[in-house]
Amino acid sequence: MRVWIDQDLCTGDGLCVDHCHDVFTLLEDGIAYVVEDGEVQNDPGGSGSLAPVPHKHVDSVIKAAEVCPGECIFIEIDQADAERDVEVDVKIAARIEIRDDLGDEAAA
Ligand code: SF4
Repeated sequence: MRVWIDQDLCTGDGLCVDHCHDVFTLLEDGIAYVVEDGEVQNDPGGSGSLAPVPHKHVDSVIKAAEVCPGECIFIEIDQADAERDVEVDVKIAARIEIRDDLGDEAAA
């Protein structure tokens, strides 16, 4: 599973950080960014802003996307995660893309 944020829509409220501070962070500009291995991916709009999500954080990242007031957390989910019994609110379905070519990069 991978996640990215559309910074143009982010309100900076920090709810995502509250749900999963290992994957989301707020920078000095008051906008949220994704984190990969402790490193902030601050390349808005670029491919570098897409972070793999460790399996242990899948549920909390989905929850963060559900409560995100900016509706700006986007998820790419791989087949392994898609086959898990993960409940996803229908309101974020448009922000989830199921892919089968992500490999095992998010294993942890
Ligand atoms: S929950 Fe959404 S709107 Fe709020 S800081 Fe995080 S990404 Fe931005």
